[in-house]
Amino acid sequence: MTVRLRAHHLLCMLTFVGEGYTPAFIANYRRIAERLTAGEEIELVSGPDDICAPLLDEKEPHCFRDSVIARDAAALADVATLLGEKIESGSVLVPDAGLLARLRQNFASGDIRYACRGCEWKELCSRIAASNFKGILIGSS
Ligand code: SF4
Repeated sequence: MTVRLRAHHLLCMLTFVGEGYTPAFIANYRRIAERLTAGEEIELVSGPDDICAPLLDEKEPHCFRDSVIARDAAALADVATLLGEKIESGSVLVPDAGLLARLRQNFASGDIRYACRGCEWKELCSRIAASNFKGILIGSS
């Protein structure tokens, strides 16, 4: 099995501390966090992914908005530049300690946070990064 993630969730997963939109969203995200922490591979997808899934029954899920798709494009570009390789829908990434540390270091410095512009969670994510990622649930064991 792989965890299907849209590109901007490569950033969001770095600061997940158990907060989110709804109880169902959080419960699902916690299960994904356990799978990623166990080393399950990530398959990049375009559009709604395994984290979005519990929101898709809403009347107008924000997951399909142009602004969210633009967030994916920005994250994809930043992470590809950081890794020095082309990544796209279908690419597979291994969320090992090295990758997570590299992403978190560059997240904390702001180098891969272009996608975070205008996000309602930005303050929380910045606070978590500034605390040296205290309380994070992915890759923390
Ligand atoms: S600020 Fe928003 S887009 Fe950026 S990592 Fe946090 S939740 Fe994700």
